[in-house]
Amino acid sequence: MNRHLRRATADDRGPTALRLLLLAVLLLACRESNSQPKIIPIWTAGQTPLIRVRLCDSAPHCEIAAEGSYRLEADAESVTPVSGQRLDAARIAPASNDGPGFELLGRVWSGRHLRLCPEPAGTVRLRLPDREAWNVYEGTMDFHISDEGLIEVINTLDVETYLVSVIANEMPASFQPEALRAQAIVARTYALYHCQTTGATRAWDVRATERSQVYRGRSDMAAESETRAAVEATRGVVCTWDGASGRKIFCTYYSSTCGGCTQPASNIAPRSTEAPLAGSVRCEYCNDSPAFRWGPTVVSKTLMLESLRKRCEEFGDFDAITTVAIAEYAECRRAARIAVTDGSGRTVTLGAERFRLAVDPTGTEIRSTLFELVVEPDSIVFANGRGYGHGVGLCQWGTERLARMGWSAGQILAYYYPGSQITLAYP
Ligand SMILES: [Zn+2]
Repeated sequence: MNRHLRRATADDRGPTALRLLLLAVLLLACRESNSQPKIIPIWTAGQTPLIRVRLCDSAPHCEIAAEGSYRLEADAESVTPVSGQRLDAARIAPASNDGPGFELLGRVWSGRHLRLCPEPAGTVRLRLPDREAWNVYEGTMDFHISDEGLIEVINTLDVETYLVSVIANEMPASFQPEALRAQAIVARTYALYHCQTTGATRAWDVRATERSQVYRGRSDMAAESETRAAVEATRGVVCTWDGASGRKIFCTYYSSTCGGCTQPASNIAPRSTEAPLAGSVRCEYCNDSPAFRWGPTVVSKTLMLESLRKRCEEFGDFDAITTVAIAEYAECRRAARIAVTDGSGRTVTLGAERFRLAVDPTGTEIRSTLFELVVEPDSIVFANGRGYGHGVGLCQWGTERLARMGWSAGQILAYYYPGSQITLAYP
């Protein structure tokens, strides 16, 4: 077993001299930080916040296992603990009898919710129906039955452990230590922001995919010691800004390669008002990215209309597309709004990021909104593309270059989120 699979103990989490030194450097390096880090009174001191990650929203069934002793609790039966030394691979599926429930271990557990808790701090394995491999997770696993009779799976664990997997997936471990630290602070802030906001209204805080941050459980946590070191060195550190109602964290968007300058968050999230995300930051540092230039990407007008109809209701009764144009530019000649016109002369104008992801939901062909459009008889050509991702907030490849130039994580974050400061949210 890889030594990095070891679960963090209370000793590991303690404020080691190295971590305190790194934290001091981070805080000093941030141009607008105060001399004393402020504690945001949201999390109890000494307690690592928990995060609820939705691993799957609608599985017809899945398989679970626990490597050590475990407990099962079902809502409808108050607490029905089942302890055992080990849970071998078992299929969990919606019960076929009247009323919601689960079939597991040869019996029916009535109710909409079932929880699997490894004891005292073991791991749970999960295999979803469309996956070959098992993934290993720390923390508890909750199963909910939807009205459609499908299973939603939510993994709850401490946010620091979650971040080790996220950083392993979101940034190459070969990046500079200061780049990895900046990424860890940004990913922590993004996660906690969702715990505070959208998470307060539903049973989970973040998705496990690119739509939030990529999380694959413990298998990734063992991958690289550099990743774990970046998370541990920045434990509890978040990005904040001082709004009218006091100091708070914000949605620290980040993307792979901004392509030359970042764009305001309001271009992709109209209600975003935080000052550090309001403007555009010039970035001459990300042209090492293999995705700095892309295209030309050719999309047939027929296929484009099909995709737009599927994802944007404005195109429900739209005729065949005749032309597509950039209706409004953001900084660096990035497309901000796109106008699509049909044969009857009708034009629908929509945000460029929404258009891009409606036409290419994977975001891998039309990689950014920094492009030029060429209209051909049967197709639209996306030419001279630059950048990869939405281009809001921190640019990961720019971060790597700045770290190589000797910038600290604090300086990098103050650059990509102007007016922000870094703050210790919990010890
Ligand atoms: Zn950049």
